[in-house]
Amino acid sequence: MKITGRCYCGSIRYEALGPTLYQANCHCENCRRAIGAQAVAWITVKLDTFKFVGDPTRHHTDTEATRTFCPDCGSSLTYQHPSRETEIDIVTASLDKPEKFAPNLSVYADEKLSWVKCDASN
Ligand SMILES: [Zn+2]
Ligand SMILES: [Zn+2]
Repeated sequence: MKITGRCYCGSIRYEALGPTLYQANCHCENCRRAIGAQAVAWITVKLDTFKFVGDPTRHHTDTEATRTFCPDCGSSLTYQHPSRETEIDIVTASLDKPEKFAPNLSVYADEKLSWVKCDASN
């Protein structure tokens, strides 16, 4: 299953192959700050199936993660961490077909904002 997506302006695209390993909604503060949203839905795929079309900016965080975003429009696109070196997380909202990849798991629910309902879909 081919998975494709892009940033807001379209200058960065990516392709990957499914099936997904995870489809999660993350409430951690790092994701919330990095992406600028109350929670962030991600899909996880095998890193060796993933490739960018275009050249995103890479931000190396103080938690050893690498986050990518479009240098032109700022859309957040991916997350990688050395603790899961064969995987890459993709921002679900950047997918071409996000409706097909509903989260089925909440992660870092203990960090969720009090006004966010805590089920996997929000
Ligand atoms: Zn862009
Ligand atoms: Zn997170």
